Amino acid sequence: MAQIIDGKAVSASVKAEVAEETARLRETNGLKVGLAVVIVGNDPASRVYVNNKKKACEAVGFQSYEYALDESTTQEQLLDLVNVLNRDDRVNGILVQLPLPKHIDEKAVINAISPDKDVDAFHPVNVGKIMIGEYSFLPCTPAGVMRLIESTGVDITGKQCVVIGRSNIVGKPQAMLLLQKNGTVTICHSKTKNLKEICLGADILVVAIGRAKFVTGDMIKEGAVVIDVGMDRDENGKLCGDVDFESAEKKAGYITPVPGGVGPMTIAMLMKNTLTAAKQQAGIE
Ligand code: NAP
Repeated sequence: MAQIIDGKAVSASVKAEVAEETARLRETNGLKVGLAVVIVGNDPASRVYVNNKKKACEAVGFQSYEYALDESTTQEQLLDLVNVLNRDDRVNGILVQLPLPKHIDEKAVINAISPDKDVDAFHPVNVGKIMIGEYSFLPCTPAGVMRLIESTGVDITGKQCVVIGRSNIVGKPQAMLLLQKNGTVTICHSKTKNLKEICLGADILVVAIGRAKFVTGDMIKEGAVVIDVGMDRDENGKLCGDVDFESAEKKAGYITPVPGGVGPMTIAMLMKNTLTAAKQQAGIE
């Protein structure tokens, strides 16, 4: 039976580290940390995420600035706001909650955020820095996954790592981070042949597909570390992951649950990135 990786506990320790450093730097350097969160429209899931980010800011001692814009906001108006925030010294990090309404080009908005304040690490400059291993910010979800793997004590060096999913926000950067930690990395996607065989070779398996309970116990190597990024709904509308937890936990050595695994890590790593941004902007090492 697998050991459960407790994302709530690991994320609490990341937030505690951030809160402690924020308090210390306020004392020693007068540093104040601010995160601007922009939401356009009324998507209920986005609203929940934004509220959670606001609460996390309060908990670690950041100031949060919320900009809730109407669904009818034009791309030009949103870009104008991003430019104002780029110049606002109180704002160290800018997060535009995705998805945006269809009439707004997400890429144009991401590209408008100053790379120094791009705490989601979606801007092409930050993506490029991740490729060459000289990054300031790591995208929050893959960075959270790395902390969860670290918490197991399993050394990534030389391990067969399989990432299922190649999205720009999860799969691709995840593969790069595992490679930087000396994993031997295979990236799988919807056109991959022999997915089951590839998964069965994985010492570390990260699943980010978006299909409920897709990876089953018979696809998992005995003792593997299994990280489930998926946030899906099962046939009864209950939150679940991309991994069939019930069958997978019988094979895995370590496994993340959904909820309570990767999910809480994403916001914790956002807090960490925002503090990093504030330190860099203030010239603090
Ligand atoms: P995405 O952009 O839709 O990408 C899904 C990836 O899975 C694609 O690369 C796709 O391959 C691949 N895929 C789809 N069906 C497959 C199959 N049958 N076999 C193998 N690969 C398959 O999704 P995403 O944004 O990366 O998110 C993935 C999941 O993670 C979702 O459930 C999302 O809700 C969740 N998520 C959670 C967090 C968190 O904080 N916990 C954060 C972000 C995302 P192709 O490229 O060939 O289409």
